Amino acid sequence: LTVDDLSVDLAGVPVLREVGFTMAHGEALGVVGESGSGKSITLRALARLLPDSARQTGTITFDGKDVSKLRGAALREFRRHEVSFVFQDPRSAINPIQRIGDFLLESVRDAGEDVSAVRTQSLQLLRRMGIDDAERRMTQYPFELSGGLLQRVMIASGLLPRPKLLLADEPTTALDVTTQSDVLALADELRREQDTALIFVTHDIDLALAICDRVLVLYAGRVLEISPSQAAVSHPYTKGLLDSRPPIDTRLDRLPSIEGTPIAAAEAGSGCPFVFRCPVALPQCRDSLPDLVEHGPTLVRCHLVEASRG
Ligand code: SF4
Ligand code: MG
Repeated sequence: LTVDDLSVDLAGVPVLREVGFTMAHGEALGVVGESGSGKSITLRALARLLPDSARQTGTITFDGKDVSKLRGAALREFRRHEVSFVFQDPRSAINPIQRIGDFLLESVRDAGEDVSAVRTQSLQLLRRMGIDDAERRMTQYPFELSGGLLQRVMIASGLLPRPKLLLADEPTTALDVTTQSDVLALADELRREQDTALIFVTHDIDLALAICDRVLVLYAGRVLEISPSQAAVSHPYTKGLLDSRPPIDTRLDRLPSIEGTPIAAAEAGSGCPFVFRCPVALPQCRDSLPDLVEHGPTLVRCHLVEASRG
């Protein structure tokens, strides 16, 4: 996957600015940022799920195909077998009057798949996702399942077509923390077996660093950093996100946090979008946008980091 210079406007308002990154076959990329940073918009653009009113520029190339030019049968094929999407809120993504088994069957429909084979695979996937009574769950309706179980069903439905790329938008926010890590570990094991690449959108940078090969940090619609590990993180904003995590061994009256509030892409001027909150801003940061440049193993957009390279 190659994303180049991707910008999106919704109803004339900029929400994503010149986003670029590449992904290798089977790789896992975390996309991290506060709400409104453009995480979900990026995923939706990749799956061609933006509303018609959205204006999009730049290119998305997947397996040699220009995704924005796919139409008709080619687009359906792309959405069924090349990418699949796991949504944040399973209750709104699953048809409430469809049985779980039919919902799963539908996620691979038109594939010329044999129904009983799909049923067997669905049962296997549900069991591997930690659903013991999978047989019975397949006959039930969404309202009969807890949010956590539905979330597991959603992930299974995303993996069922064996896509080349799974796009997951905060797939475990409905779960408690312990269940969340169990479910993610199971999903990660399955996608590795299938050789399915993953883009995992979350506001939790620890989670992203734990399960992904690299983490892309979005702020006000821009990529500020793409880092392979916590040790390589160099951007003041990413460092701030890491420092805002509550310590596990001490009790604090107040959690550390980054001063100020995030801005929307439309509010960013010509300089670094993080300048209003950056504790180490330089005079040039207000007017000049740094480039995304290599800094050791990480890609980072910051004048200070650039200056430190000499
Ligand atoms: Fe801070 Fe300037 Fe770097 Fe932006 S470019 S993060 S304002 S030092
Ligand atoms: Mg979102």
